[in-house]
Amino acid sequence: MLINMMEHYVDEKLSERLKNYECCKCEICMEDMKAYALNRLPAKYVSTVNGQIFTRINQELENQPGVDLEIAVLQAIQFVSERKRHS
Ligand SMILES: [Zn+2]
Repeated sequence: MLINMMEHYVDEKLSERLKNYECCKCEICMEDMKAYALNRLPAKYVSTVNGQIFTRINQELENQPGVDLEIAVLQAIQFVSERKRHS
């Protein structure tokens, strides 16, 4: 099974950064932010076997893309909070 590690990085960074923002944090906006950030970052696939996924994630997290991830997540928060898809 393949998973895109970038989704985990974006998830983590997004919830970390959103603590400092007053914007809407509903499911719709969170998904939009995630999609926005992920579309601007390279996919980073790892293969997983039953049970081994967690050690792989921890190892991979050591090498997570720092600056690009940070920028993409901040832009995503800004973009989506200014253009909410719901009222
Ligand atoms: Zn929302």
